[in-house]
Amino acid sequence: MQDHVLVVGAGLAGATAARILAESNLRVIVVERRKHVGGNCYDYTDENGITVHLYGPHIFHTNSREVWNFVNRFCEFRYYQHRVLSFVEGRFVPFPINRDTICEVFGVNIGVEEVEDFLKDEVRRSNFNDPPKNFRDVVVSQVGERLYELFFKNYTIKQWNRDPEELSPDVAKRIPVRYGRDDRYFSDRYQGIPARGYTHLVERILDHPKISIVTNMDYFELRDHVKPKLTVYTGELDRFFDCVYGKLEYRSLRLVFKTYDMEYYQPVAVVNYPNDYDWTRITEFKHMTGERSSRTTVLFEYPSAEGEPFYVVLTRDNIERREKYMEEVKKLEKSGEYIFVGRLAEYLYYNMDQVIEASIRKVGEWLKNRTG
Ligand SMILES: Cc1cc2nc3c(=O)[nH]c(=O)nc-3n(C[C@H](O)[C@H](O)[C@H](O)COP(=O)(O)OP(=O)(O)OC[C@H]3O[C@@H](n4cnc5c(N)ncnc54)[C@H](O)[C@@H]3O)c2cc1C
Repeated sequence: MQDHVLVVGAGLAGATAARILAESNLRVIVVERRKHVGGNCYDYTDENGITVHLYGPHIFHTNSREVWNFVNRFCEFRYYQHRVLSFVEGRFVPFPINRDTICEVFGVNIGVEEVEDFLKDEVRRSNFNDPPKNFRDVVVSQVGERLYELFFKNYTIKQWNRDPEELSPDVAKRIPVRYGRDDRYFSDRYQGIPARGYTHLVERILDHPKISIVTNMDYFELRDHVKPKLTVYTGELDRFFDCVYGKLEYRSLRLVFKTYDMEYYQPVAVVNYPNDYDWTRITEFKHMTGERSSRTTVLFEYPSAEGEPFYVVLTRDNIERREKYMEEVKKLEKSGEYIFVGRLAEYLYYNMDQVIEASIRKVGEWLKNRTG
């Protein structure tokens, strides 16, 4: 084992690291506690022949040519531009908020050149802390109270089970607002869905003669018995340190799949339900994959405190706790024997491309220090 690298977790962070290390002529063993590779972007074909994402819908989007080139080495991507509708006051309106959303909600007919001033007026009439102190402040300072109440307030309460005023302003940084009529959810330069699925993509990244994979194996069952040259850890940050500084909170989802005898269930891949029902959104995968079938499988997402650790919870307590753990991480990484990378190991709200980018960078630095 001494001349091996151990990679903990076969999600995108682990797979990317394993591949780069293997291509640098190192022997890599990947251990994964689940029965499959792919991490949270794992997908499979259900009994109706429809591809579904077991842990929630995943759309690949990036502005990084390096990341796009990396994933395109392993699979083709299907052209797909993600569109989301929000069900508010009994109708579907485009989300993120754009000119058409504003016209629908306020019953006005304004040109795209008037949207900025319209929103400024809304903001002027609203109360919020400036500079923003929390999630509510960030959103209200961009769109005003009325749109905040309709689209963000209850969605956030459902999603996080927290008052939006308790959440860090960082959570809202992910919410784009459009002054024009562009109704795409993401505006990144490169977007798509792996033509043969995410699991296939990750399997291809891991398909290298110097990589061995062990599934159904928890790292903590073997960590006292092995001494690898390097451990790339992509699991939960707090767990690695036996939660000495306290537990880091994660938000999870209860995911309910339903199949209907109809070609399509809804007009686009994702519909958000900020105010009605207990689910936050419904996903219909066929819109993303382009599969044709007389049946369709959709996914209802119910946020939950229990279950797989999906989302980091950016409260002040968690952020402070994270800092303490990251000090320990720095020391371990300095020794050259560990790399911590990925959504769980860095306790960061990473998208898939950011995880790949971080993995390429961190492993690249490690390799450079090793030879340099
Ligand atoms: C519902 C949902 C929707 C999302 N949608 C998008 C999207 O549309 N676009 C986008 O870019 N990103 C999206 N993401 C984010 C995306 O899933 C992550 O950025 C990415 O999958 C993280 O990869 P990772 O390798 O860091 O972590 P993970 O995918 O969580 O992989 C970590 C792996 O490590 C394993 N592991 C953990 N601990 C151990 C251990 N002790 N021993 C062995 N194995 C262990 C886990 O089982 C897991 O397989 C979404 C996330 C969620 C939850």
